[in-house]
Amino acid sequence: MIRFALACSEGHEFEGWFHSNEAFDRQRAAGELACPVCGVTSVDKAIMAPAVARSGAADRPPPELVARFLAMARALRAHVEQNFENVGARFPEEARRIHLGEAEPRDIYGEATAEEVRELLDEGIEVRPLPWVPKLDG
Ligand SMILES: [Zn+2]
Repeated sequence: MIRFALACSEGHEFEGWFHSNEAFDRQRAAGELACPVCGVTSVDKAIMAPAVARSGAADRPPPELVARFLAMARALRAHVEQNFENVGARFPEEARRIHLGEAEPRDIYGEATAEEVRELLDEGIEVRPLPWVPKLDG
């Protein structure tokens, strides 16, 4: 999996994970990439350039879109918490054991440092970051 910094034609920046550069090109050509802020499918890799600070709230995402995104992220997280086994800090070890066939194949989630995630990806183990959103219990 490769992470790309992306930007839409409206200037919103976000991130996407892709199996490969080719997968990114294919999805982009097929119009399958959409900006999570405004929904346009005119999306490309973000050009790494110095940021220009603009004043005013005009290019902030509308609150209802932010709320919708957070709701989706919460739903995804809830699904994972209900259906995946929480292995906590043993995540890198357990992901590796499953990958090597030393542990029962199953869906797991847990904690890993950026370094550990990179090592797992290097070993061909697919890991995905979960959107971390504040819990709604309170
Ligand atoms: Zn956008």
